[in-house]
Amino acid sequence: MEVNDFSLRNYRVFFIDMDGVIVRSNQPIEGASEGVKKLRELGEVYVLSNNSTRSRRSFAERLRRVGVDLPPASIINSSFIASRYLLEEFGGIDVYPVGEEGLAEELEATGNRVLEPERAEVVVAGMDRGISYDKLAGALEALNGGARFYATNTDKTFPTPEGEKPGAGATVGAITGMGFPPDKVMGKPSRVAAEIAMEVAGVSSPSDCLVIGDRVETDILMAKRAGMDSALTLSGVDNSSGDAVGAEAADPTLTVNSLAELAKEWS
Ligand SMILES: [Mg+2]
Repeated sequence: MEVNDFSLRNYRVFFIDMDGVIVRSNQPIEGASEGVKKLRELGEVYVLSNNSTRSRRSFAERLRRVGVDLPPASIINSSFIASRYLLEEFGGIDVYPVGEEGLAEELEATGNRVLEPERAEVVVAGMDRGISYDKLAGALEALNGGARFYATNTDKTFPTPEGEKPGAGATVGAITGMGFPPDKVMGKPSRVAAEIAMEVAGVSSPSDCLVIGDRVETDILMAKRAGMDSALTLSGVDNSSGDAVGAEAADPTLTVNSLAELAKEWS
């Protein structure tokens, strides 16, 4: 598509990333909450995030605190994507999670069961600021017992005011280091993320969807793989190094400084 032909009115559904688009280091990004409101006048808005530390309920609370009022049903984060995938694939399954409280909460809210390692049929790993030797030993026990291994996402790091901190990739890497690479990775840029997002939004054509995000190797790449258009915001991570410059690096349909600019200039 020519950039001149771009209009937000061409889309029915907006999948908006959170960190680097709506908030930066827990602080609201200027104009983002108004931008979300504007997009809600034009179509349906979903927040599509690789964050696995929260349930949808607690994610919606976090959004409300930064001035974005969306119900939990409009949140599609990687703990939900993993939970929903397990429900669809296995009709609800016994899971040993290696992650934070929100991952276990979402697994159960979606209809899976959180159990001890010896009874688990699946290990799901996400970002975990309380990762421990005991938790890893639990994962090993489950995996040695034949459990499958799914990762909510493999983001290596995430930005904070004090610099980069370890992401879900650290947890997944620790388990991979015991001899068990993930059978599947759920978050952006995976096909699973795009498929579940479209299903939740009730949309069958990727061309009805616009992905808005700040990270080329997750947001923009997922859009490219799924056949969706995308808008890259420059309000978040620096895309000038690392994986963003890889062979599969994807070009966004449009690049804007911020969500506020997108909503204001392109409707
Ligand atoms: Mg982001």
